[in-house]
Amino acid sequence: MIPFIDLKTQYSRLKDDIDARIHAVLDGGQYVMGPAVTAFEEELCAYTGARNAISCSSGTDALFMPLLAMGVGAGDAVFVPSFTYTSTAEAILLAGAAPVFVDVDPGTFLIDMDDLRAKIAQTRAAGRLTPRVIMPVDLFGQPADYAALNALAREEDLKIVADAAQAFGARKGGTMVGAMTDITSTSFYPSKPLGCYGDGGAIFTDDDALADVLRSVRSHGKGAHKYDVVRVGVNGRLDSIQAAVLSSKLSIFEDELASRERVARRYDAALAEVVRVPARVSDSRSVWAQYTIRTTERERLQAGCKERGVPTMVFYPVPMHLQPAYSAYGDGEGSLPASEQAAREVVSLPMNPYLSETQVDAVCDSIRDALSVAQLAE
Ligand SMILES: *Cc1c(COP(=O)(O)O)cnc(C)c1O
Repeated sequence: MIPFIDLKTQYSRLKDDIDARIHAVLDGGQYVMGPAVTAFEEELCAYTGARNAISCSSGTDALFMPLLAMGVGAGDAVFVPSFTYTSTAEAILLAGAAPVFVDVDPGTFLIDMDDLRAKIAQTRAAGRLTPRVIMPVDLFGQPADYAALNALAREEDLKIVADAAQAFGARKGGTMVGAMTDITSTSFYPSKPLGCYGDGGAIFTDDDALADVLRSVRSHGKGAHKYDVVRVGVNGRLDSIQAAVLSSKLSIFEDELASRERVARRYDAALAEVVRVPARVSDSRSVWAQYTIRTTERERLQAGCKERGVPTMVFYPVPMHLQPAYSAYGDGEGSLPASEQAAREVVSLPMNPYLSETQVDAVCDSIRDALSVAQLAE
């Protein structure tokens, strides 16, 4: 069986270092915040080029806390692509704001700028909600078009909270994710490109005043003193053990990203004629959180791969505007055609830095077999 992700091989590579760092936390006795967390936050700033990195409890909290910090809530509109993971929409609703669903580009699966402009204009015209925030998603590991998004946000007087849960380490030109826009949120959930051994996340911003508010929000809205409560916050801190694990993994992260890129290139070369391979954002580096192809024969492809011991996954089968929990905020079937079509056609292939060329070739052979078997049967 080919591993879809491979955290065991990674752990065997880092075992001595990770074990030593975990034991140092255990010996030190500071299990929440403390020196391991401070050190990791400094490493995050150095790596991304962001002025502030605020580690936190999860990628979902990393999206929710900035909304709370900025007072985004009832009566406010947050523009979000519909083709995303549930957390993006969830964070908006937890804050009490209303998600306005936007379609995606069918090639990159990133937020569609034309539809975004249209949705902002429609929302202003309707007058019921106040546009406040754009929440683009760096889906599958590529950065959204932040040059265009930042310009639009300035024009429209909106803030950007980027959902980069899948794109920590991605780059556009010389700029890393985390330093591309007002606020960037990421996740260190185990299956993400940089993952810990539990839940974790981080928020990046160059705005020092906002960073101070976020640090307060992360610890129950504390003021200068711990028992001085100056705002409503959450319990949103990162555990020290997770920070220690992340520091260890960050030390080999660039090497792992290079391996992911090699896997992606091998898939591209073998599959470009068989299925629709991922479109790349120009002048950028993807971290390949997922290698996601498109096919109108998804069921057959998945069944054939499964028979041959090749795991595949569908991220995501239902766009947010059609989810029962969020559909009241959408315009129903047919309203966001690119998101709906993506949900019908996408399938993600095994992707991790430890796949051998033989394993990648086996995945590609299974896909070719699965699809040609299907053709012969017709
Ligand atoms: C994983 C993910 C999140 C949430 O991260 P958690 O750490 O699991 O809370 C949010 N958005 C996207 C796009 C994700 O992939």
